[in-house]
Amino acid sequence: MSIDVKKPKPILQLVGVRKTFGDFVAVDRIDLDVRQGEFLTIVGPSGSGKTTLLRMLAGMDVPSEGNITLHGELINDVPPNKRPTCLVFQSLALFPHKTVGDNIEFPLKVRGVDKETRKARALELMRVVRLPADYHGKNVMKCSGGERQRVALARALAYDPEVLFFDEPLSAIDYKLKKILEKELKDLHRETGKTFIYITHSLEEAMVMSDRIGVMRAGKIVQVGTPEEIYATPADRFVSEFVGEVNVIEVAKSAAGTWQGVDLPGTYTIRPPKDEDAARAFVVVRPEFMRLLDEGETADNCLEGTVYNEYSLGSRLQYQVHVGAKVMLVEVPRGRLANAARDARVRLGFDARDAIVVGS
Ligand code: ATP
Repeated sequence: MSIDVKKPKPILQLVGVRKTFGDFVAVDRIDLDVRQGEFLTIVGPSGSGKTTLLRMLAGMDVPSEGNITLHGELINDVPPNKRPTCLVFQSLALFPHKTVGDNIEFPLKVRGVDKETRKARALELMRVVRLPADYHGKNVMKCSGGERQRVALARALAYDPEVLFFDEPLSAIDYKLKKILEKELKDLHRETGKTFIYITHSLEEAMVMSDRIGVMRAGKIVQVGTPEEIYATPADRFVSEFVGEVNVIEVAKSAAGTWQGVDLPGTYTIRPPKDEDAARAFVVVRPEFMRLLDEGETADNCLEGTVYNEYSLGSRLQYQVHVGAKVMLVEVPRGRLANAARDARVRLGFDARDAIVVGS
């Protein structure tokens, strides 16, 4: 028997976890291993079942079917306060009329920890989340949004949970602060070494912070992988489109075995789809892999179109190009001469190695 020593053992395991509300299936037979110490983010569009899944993991809801185990022990029915876990809500759920210190110390107080030990622990945690020590006596309502976020994090860490759950804690925060807090959360994860399970509908957030991402759709986890895997090798068209802007060309296999465009005529040179028997597939080309070809330049696949618009994305320029009835997106680094004025006829090209071929 060979043992994979590199793969950390799971702390939480979900087997066939399902949650129904009447006839409605909100979470549909999910199998998932959460590794000890990882930062796992569950992303998915609104209504895909992320919160329902998290509520079951945190003990606020009981699965209709299936098992959730923590360190191998079944915890389906174990209430939240009896689990070594803690949930940080989007609303933060702080006590508004209490001080920063009181808020952080609350979980310790209910567990009967004495005042001095509580204060020492609160000050230690305030250091971890980068709150000045003199904030201990400050009313939490006099803190800024980012500071309150840190108070909520310190409180979540107060009784040293093994797993921290986060329910979209950054969704109501302005962009700049959000970017700072994303990095701080990632640092905090690293410093504490704890297992973080985070849900969000923002893939950008997931990409920045996570070791692994699970993508949910209609109650199922359709793919779990590192941010790079999710981006570079999406499991299907849904994941590829969820991960960012894409150009999609539908193709069908001809009797001769070549791939013919369905929505954009032509023969396409592509890598075979994972399902080798598939008669149809989607060719997904990210805008940064779609090239504006110079005269005489070729690619495995060439298309002709008309430039419709140009957008600045900061460090890059994006072109919208009408090709037949479709709109293709092409991105080039700023500074590279793209030679594509509005209404100009251009040739686009992409190579087989730069295109992802997925099923529906
Ligand atoms: P969002 O990003 O909008 O928060 P989500 O991915 O977290 O969405 P859930 O809140 O888990 O999605 O909801 C999944 C589905 O289950 C939704 O269609 C929702 O209406 C339904 N649902 C959730 N809770 C209940 C409930 N208590 N009773 C009935 N239906 C529910």
